[in-house]
Amino acid sequence: MPPDVAQLSEHLLVYRGPINVGIVRDGAKALLIDSGDGRVAEALGPIGVTSVDPIVFTHHHRDQACGAWFLAARGARLGVPAAERDCFDKVAAYWSSPQSRWHLYNLHPHHLMLAEPVRVDMTFAAGDTFTWGPATLRVLPTPGHTDGSVSYVVDVDGRRTIFCGDAIAAAGQVWDIHSLQKGTQTTDYHGFLGARPQLVESLGRLKAAGASALVPSHGSIMADPSAAIDALVTALGRCYDRYVAISALWHYFPNLFAEYAGRKDLMPIRQGKPVPGCLRHFGTTWMLISRDKAAFVMDCGSADAVKEIRRRLSAGEIRGVEGLWVTHYHDDHVDGIPDFQKAFDCPCITDRSVAAVITDPLAWRLPCLSPHKARVDRATTDGESWRWHEFKMTAYHFPGQTLYHAGLLVEGEGLRMFFGGDSFTMAGIDDYCAANRNWLGRGVGFDRCIGLLEELQPTHIFNPHVDVAFDFTGEQCRSMRANLAEREKLYGQLVPWEHANYGMDEPWVRCHPYEQPAAAGGEAAVDVVVTNHSAEARPFACRAVLPRAWRPGLPQDAADEPADAGLVTAWVRGQAPAKSEGRVRLSLRIPGQCPHGRWVIPVDLVYGGRDLPQPPPPPGGARGGGGGGPSPRRPAITLTRLGHPLP
Ligand SMILES: [Zn+2]
Ligand SMILES: [Zn+2]
Repeated sequence: MPPDVAQLSEHLLVYRGPINVGIVRDGAKALLIDSGDGRVAEALGPIGVTSVDPIVFTHHHRDQACGAWFLAARGARLGVPAAERDCFDKVAAYWSSPQSRWHLYNLHPHHLMLAEPVRVDMTFAAGDTFTWGPATLRVLPTPGHTDGSVSYVVDVDGRRTIFCGDAIAAAGQVWDIHSLQKGTQTTDYHGFLGARPQLVESLGRLKAAGASALVPSHGSIMADPSAAIDALVTALGRCYDRYVAISALWHYFPNLFAEYAGRKDLMPIRQGKPVPGCLRHFGTTWMLISRDKAAFVMDCGSADAVKEIRRRLSAGEIRGVEGLWVTHYHDDHVDGIPDFQKAFDCPCITDRSVAAVITDPLAWRLPCLSPHKARVDRATTDGESWRWHEFKMTAYHFPGQTLYHAGLLVEGEGLRMFFGGDSFTMAGIDDYCAANRNWLGRGVGFDRCIGLLEELQPTHIFNPHVDVAFDFTGEQCRSMRANLAEREKLYGQLVPWEHANYGMDEPWVRCHPYEQPAAAGGEAAVDVVVTNHSAEARPFACRAVLPRAWRPGLPQDAADEPADAGLVTAWVRGQAPAKSEGRVRLSLRIPGQCPHGRWVIPVDLVYGGRDLPQPPPPPGGARGGGGGGPSPRRPAITLTRLGHPLP
């Protein structure tokens, strides 16, 4: 038996590659459950399997199915959950839709989508049952990780085993936390862990099916499914509890948490405070007015804000506009900037992290991102101060609501006014969208922000969506930081990774730029940026997976070579220092015959060695040609677009 194959019974095996692939064997024939990147094919020969048909999929994620085309080209028919069919055979519609790219408030279907479509031969719905060789398979709907996820209940050799996709990874664990982001009463944007009730229902169904083993896509085979599931349900409840206790959403949508109302472990909501006379609020804008009637504008979310400023100018309330500060990159804070910059000649100032996004949005894929470029005249560093009329201003990097966020302390008139963007309301912190990259840990994310509030002791805190001022007591700051420290532990225990942030922070592997124009016959370069959330340095290696159409002479349905032959770039190695980013550059040569259009280039990553299902061999030539080597396809992706910029 090859070392990466586990035999559960005579006819049932599991290939333990980057994902677990189920193998139901009948003589020289096999049915597979999920394909992973296709390298399962290498393990089939040694166990005497010469033909695969069909392959059935638990869900559409790229790491489940990126090798499916290769096996399909050798005759395997593909069966997928009916609800996710479009995520297999119509992926171009997803990739070309502006709705998958800009102003993202809904995050389903998931972004971990196949780069290229595969042919679908059959679909499965809840309760479908079929026999294959010695086995009976029943389809169990188990949404949560994705909307259309299913599990396969396999009865063979007198045993019942369930292949449950990513519904559970191990006792008390899920593979990641960010994929559970889902809206219930509003958009997905406000739905941190919003798929939890759905997942808990799915877990109940898995438990009731009474299997003797549970095989997850990522994680370890569970011999006591009931105990593993109970531990996960309890862990999810605890994690959600801690989130609700200090959520800013109590201010915006108290009904979201109706079932928690009145609970004693919630942080008490602060009363608002009157707004000092030097400030005005309209739209998402706070405007500071000096004694001599100069205006300093903070955020400009729409053309209406520009009209409002003009109105106040003509009414004589202000005599000129002297600056624009941007709290963070979200569309409802920046969409009016192009109009503002046409109307008023003054510097635009913001933290470097925000400037990087709003001056070049094409390079990023983030929630609530606007495609319009803004001009930034001064990108500030953390702690940089300047005078503006009778006020002293100090800029901060303020990774609260998003990682790309600024804070501004304005001192004057005996006040210490802190403009914290969307990071806080009087109910707590604004971390309801995991895609905003809210890191947990001492000195990062909200812990850093609250620490700064403790140090700066503002008399007033302002949020662009709240029309009064507020503040926090020292006790509240301490309790929020204690909550976050507890969450770092709880969320860390919830995922099979070295730190909670790997489960929270989907773009811990990302490509920069995310999207770029390029020309046929030319070259493109992209940086793969790896955020190492671990406490020690981690080596990594990556390579790009090129579109099949780019490989000259590759008939897509008759490949007779290794799955990745000619379709991947050489491995490039990098090193990510502890709690920091590592970065390597991949160069892509674009074929001269490349048709005009949008091309999606996923990236293979080998990271460290500890976090992967098997230790990676030295990448880059161990088997020549850049092929081979464990290489789970992580959710990093770049869009390379040929010809002209986006609509
Ligand atoms: Zn998945
Ligand atoms: Zn925001």
